[in-house]
Amino acid sequence: MNPIRIPGLALLVVSVLLGFPAQGLVGAQPAGSAGTAALAHDDIAKAPECPICGMDREKFAHSRVFVTYEDGTVYGTCSLHCAAIDLAVRLGLAPVSIEVGDYDGRHLIDAESASWVVGGSLPGVMTRRAKWAFETPEAAQAFIQQHGGESTDFDAVLKAAFEDMYEDNRMIRQRRKQMQRQKDGG
Ligand SMILES: [Zn+2]
Repeated sequence: MNPIRIPGLALLVVSVLLGFPAQGLVGAQPAGSAGTAALAHDDIAKAPECPICGMDREKFAHSRVFVTYEDGTVYGTCSLHCAAIDLAVRLGLAPVSIEVGDYDGRHLIDAESASWVVGGSLPGVMTRRAKWAFETPEAAQAFIQQHGGESTDFDAVLKAAFEDMYEDNRMIRQRRKQMQRQKDGG
């Protein structure tokens, strides 16, 4: 009879019906039929939360990454930082495609042919040194003119993600500790 409980229950029922995992257990889901990526945010329906950090991938659509491995496993993360962690863990499986959210349009683009920007004045997602992907070199240049950063390719940006791993993980742990302290302190 409590009206507050009804939306929660309805949401739960909807998520169960749609087969969404309650908590980031998307790693083992098979890839859908070819061409599903053409649907605007279909990958977010498949992987609503980043399995590494739990962040909402719709909210971070502009930095999200979606990897399809050779055995059909798909893996959706909030950022290149979290995707790099999975790529390192699954060394035995080759990725057949790595897609990333276009910073401007939020649609998925091929990460390997994207124009990447490293750094700049905007805070990165799960990283101190931001890493953004753009569909065209012109869009990347327009971003750099406004926010700074350096234009680069996928190999270099992936290398940067691994280089930043130590500092970024340290920063994330510290932030979590602070948030916990604030919560505990009221
Ligand atoms: Zn993440």
